[in-house]
Amino acid sequence: MNTMKFIYLLSLAFIFHGPEKERAMIAFAIKDPRSAQAIFNDRRQIPVLCYHNIRKNPGKEDLLWISEARLNQQMKMLSDSGYHTILPDQLYYYVNTGATLPAKPILLSFDDTHAEDFSMVAPILARYGYKGVFFTMTVCIGKNGFMTAAEIKTLSDSGHIIGGHTWNHPNITTVKGKEWEQQIDKPKLLLEKITGKTVNYFAYPYGAWNDTAIMELKKRGINAAFQLTGKQSEKEPLFTIRRLMISGSWTGVELLKRMEKIFPKND
Ligand SMILES: [Zn+2]
Repeated sequence: MNTMKFIYLLSLAFIFHGPEKERAMIAFAIKDPRSAQAIFNDRRQIPVLCYHNIRKNPGKEDLLWISEARLNQQMKMLSDSGYHTILPDQLYYYVNTGATLPAKPILLSFDDTHAEDFSMVAPILARYGYKGVFFTMTVCIGKNGFMTAAEIKTLSDSGHIIGGHTWNHPNITTVKGKEWEQQIDKPKLLLEKITGKTVNYFAYPYGAWNDTAIMELKKRGINAAFQLTGKQSEKEPLFTIRRLMISGSWTGVELLKRMEKIFPKND
């Protein structure tokens, strides 16, 4: 084994098994990351699913609303089909360095800080040994219907990832000047204070992004950002990672069918 490869494997061992603090610090230490073009040309996209409101009985089943029982059915189908959840660091290293992923990798994401992310989603994920990323807008932390800081910390401590999702959910293509501080810096710092870990990943509210937003996120220490199913940018593939919004009306079988259509080149 040559020295570079050894150092690389050693750093991976740290990243995935080391203490959380070291793991976060190392997240920026890639030497010779792949070029945007190389990442874009590698058209294998890992499926990333995006969920919003989970309720016991939501009263409707659509792209924003899903029942607890349906989420469980979908997770069970993924588990029975051999899917393994990965976390954003793993995706980041995979696209940058070709780091190995488990068989049938999938990334699960839950947006908007809902109280049910803690009370319903986390127990369902635990049933299947799954972990996810929770994109958290900070304006509503501790308010009625939303997670408390302690709940966010518990999610983080149990191996889930807390990602940024702005302060109050603006369309980020309209953000200007000093507002970047309010929408990106302050929420990032608050989430880091709550979790004790750096926040390296971000999801665009409404999936909306532009070149200015990507530049601002990069300046502020974000490694990669997630949109919805818009076209991935050839120039900035890591800042336009696609996510599929999942409908509460899809059975587990339908979920798999749609997922394999949108992300056709997975294992
Ligand atoms: Zn959102």
